[in-house]
Amino acid sequence: MNQPNESWNCLPTQAAPARRRSTRQVCVRWGERMVKIGGDAPVLVQSMTNTDTADAIATAIQVKELAQAGSEVVRITVNSPEAAAEVPAIRDQLDRMGVEVPLVGDFHYNGHKLLVDYPACAQALSAYRINPGNVGRGAKREDNFARMIEIACRHDKPIRIGVNWGSLDQELLARMMDENAARAEPWEASAVLREALVRSAIENAQRAEALGLGSDMIVLSAKVSGVQDLIAVYRELSRRCDYPLHLGLTEAGMGSKGIVASTAALAVLLQDGIGDTIRVSLTPAPGEPRTREVEVAQQILQTMGLRAFTPLVIACPGCGRTTSTFFQELAQEIQDYLRAQMPLWRERYPGVESMNVAVMGCVVNGPGESKHANIGISLPGSGEAPVAPVFVDGVRTVTLKGASIAEEFQAIVADYVQRRYARAGA
Ligand code: SF4
Repeated sequence: MNQPNESWNCLPTQAAPARRRSTRQVCVRWGERMVKIGGDAPVLVQSMTNTDTADAIATAIQVKELAQAGSEVVRITVNSPEAAAEVPAIRDQLDRMGVEVPLVGDFHYNGHKLLVDYPACAQALSAYRINPGNVGRGAKREDNFARMIEIACRHDKPIRIGVNWGSLDQELLARMMDENAARAEPWEASAVLREALVRSAIENAQRAEALGLGSDMIVLSAKVSGVQDLIAVYRELSRRCDYPLHLGLTEAGMGSKGIVASTAALAVLLQDGIGDTIRVSLTPAPGEPRTREVEVAQQILQTMGLRAFTPLVIACPGCGRTTSTFFQELAQEIQDYLRAQMPLWRERYPGVESMNVAVMGCVVNGPGESKHANIGISLPGSGEAPVAPVFVDGVRTVTLKGASIAEEFQAIVADYVQRRYARAGA
């Protein structure tokens, strides 16, 4: 009989990074709600509305939907006097609906005017996003930026310096291109562009501090649309400063391309401990809910083991051994059921968000994978007896069969949640 080789060691597992690289922490508040960004806080999920902010009711409804889906901060564009005038009404409407999610105002070109002309807007927002490439040119740029920082100080609001390569400060870029051309060994233009993004973010943050804003009131972002560029830019930002960082691949795109590109970029950075808050900038397909971007952001964090939001469904892909689409339908039903229950379960059953449910298509991996999950069901593949064993905490408990497998399995899941996650004394 072969003896185990003593020299064999378990391959090391790459653990999810326990702490973030940024040491500073920014607090974004509204009412009783306070969310922390950076330091030892968990990575936060953000989103942005796509309604016309001047339509206060439509915007408040979408903010509510995003918040209920799990967005912990919601950004709204404030692009016109009409929009700025409606921001307090949006905030009031949300407060009346019991939605305390902090609102961030997104300003470009005219933020310095809107924040001055509409002080109630400045007060109703929990933070301001300032794009240093879109605050004016030359001396005006300096003045406009200073005015926005002054208002942030007056209202005690944090800011995000949000640089984007689609709207990079052109004067800074031109100056750096000239400096680069004079170097003995000039960099590639793309490298200069990346350096300009990093420098723009850090220099504007330092300028905001010099103007009186606390270092614990500043978050940085430097978004680009290429995965490798984003990784390079954020690694450099993280190396050169310790402001909390907001991550996101800008203009990620539609459908699977947008999801895959965002995940590829964010996962690499998050695994390096870079990033304190994320947004997945998906272009919704016609009719697709805006909340999809929140769902994807949560799934990135949860599948990486960084946070838990909703029980995960582990399902095999199916193959020639699956006899029908029943197993796909069951996986979908269970997933929808778990997501629908979460608003209630989150309150009643703490810890349920970490539960795993396996829905497997045949005996090959079904029982094994089901035993690893909290609850699993192994459906019959082709040629197998038409029965579906259910495993709870690794132990085979019942075997389901007949037309009501889906309903019975759902009842088993509900019963498990009540028994396992009920608050002590409840
Ligand atoms: S568990 Fe069975 S049905 Fe699912 S992929 Fe594997 S072999 Fe195919």
